[in-house]
Amino acid sequence: MSAPQERRSWLAGLIGHGVGPSLTPELHEREAARQGLRYVYKVVDLPDGTVEPTRLEQLLDGARDLGFDGLNITHPVKQAMVPLVDECAPAVAAIGALNTVLIQDGRTTGHNTDVTGFERAFADDLPDADRDTVVLLGAGGAGTAVAHALADLGVRRLLVVDLDGERAGALARTLADRSVAVDLVAATRDDLVTALARSSGLVNASPMGMAAHPGSPVPADLLHPGLWVADIVYRPLDTALLTVARQRGCTVLSGAGMAVHQAADAFELITGRPADRGAMHRDFDELVAAEAATRMGEPARDTTGERNR
Ligand code: NAD
Repeated sequence: MSAPQERRSWLAGLIGHGVGPSLTPELHEREAARQGLRYVYKVVDLPDGTVEPTRLEQLLDGARDLGFDGLNITHPVKQAMVPLVDECAPAVAAIGALNTVLIQDGRTTGHNTDVTGFERAFADDLPDADRDTVVLLGAGGAGTAVAHALADLGVRRLLVVDLDGERAGALARTLADRSVAVDLVAATRDDLVTALARSSGLVNASPMGMAAHPGSPVPADLLHPGLWVADIVYRPLDTALLTVARQRGCTVLSGAGMAVHQAADAFELITGRPADRGAMHRDFDELVAAEAATRMGEPARDTTGERNR
């Protein structure tokens, strides 16, 4: 019997809106180059506004026909893609959102590496963190992925805060079958005071702290020493929340780990090869530093709508 034929090349891509500044293509291509793979990562930038399911179906069919091996999927189509794939990993079915589509032998499978990415980042940097009660700010797509990661990590009670109560309620419903207990908390100072006083951890999965949404989502005096604080925003890496949390004696986790591990997990799914996560982390730091240096030398630009990917 002859040996299986060695793969010649890989083709991957990213579909979403406003994906131009994404670091994920560069992270994938650098890792592939390190491994001596021929790997091309294309970016498909969707127009703003609602994207029709028929358009997404066309893109998925096109990717399959053109021989793509995998796609990353991001805002605003993480949810809309779920019914279009042939199969879903269990986390995708529970959350109702995917960020990676694998294409193998003409079949598409949805995965969510935001969940696994946060889990790995947490395991790296906060392995002994108290997981009894955790406040989660932001119940959007990323917040929902983080909530399921926290459930996987053994958090017993999650206090979910969102300016939009409907979104917090929808997140809670996705956790109905999980062992974590969920309380919805209003985004008022009084409610945050009570919630943080009884918590061992805080995760920011809201856009607060990004250039377009400056400031901390939590007043400094509510952060008590002993609280661990994770922020998934990574533009900038040192958000106002993390800066003040450090000053108040909290252990902190930045958004870098989740960004690197979600990319590494997708790379491994697509290629079937282990990623060098340490090297990807160094690439990420270099790319973020280069981006920050470029911005310092540039006139301020409108970053409204720019998101971390
Ligand atoms: P989204 O717009 O879907 O959801 C954000 C949610 O936060 C909304 O429901 C909004 O009502 C809520 N919110 C806004 N301000 C709030 C506040 N002060 N308190 C409580 N809730 C508030 O966005 P998303 O896709 O979930 O992404 C959220 C952020 O996560 C992004 O801005 C991005 O910075 C970050 N992110 C990081 C990674 C990573 O790999 N590190 C991955 C994905 C997203």
